[in-house]
Amino acid sequence: MKWEYKVSEPYNLTNEEAINAIEKNMPLAGTYTVLTEALHMAIKALRKQEPVKPTTERTRYGEAYDCNVCNCGLEPYNNYCPNCGQRIDWTEG
Ligand SMILES: [Zn+2]
Repeated sequence: MKWEYKVSEPYNLTNEEAINAIEKNMPLAGTYTVLTEALHMAIKALRKQEPVKPTTERTRYGEAYDCNVCNCGLEPYNNYCPNCGQRIDWTEG
């Protein structure tokens, strides 16, 4: 294993740093297929934790929100998309 990152202990990695570390150390294509699949699952799970802003549409009833990942309808109290599990960023701007 090659760890090319200099992080200070105790390795409080951000999700992005963890994803980069996994991707840089991914087994070669065609080898360790179970491990490779598990690592891709971990990357997908880490990306779900990164808040993504919803899309906003104006309708005649007010504003409607959709998940930017799967287009599922969202309610403003959904901190996570009920369909795909993406964390939702409701902050303004
Ligand atoms: Zn979604």
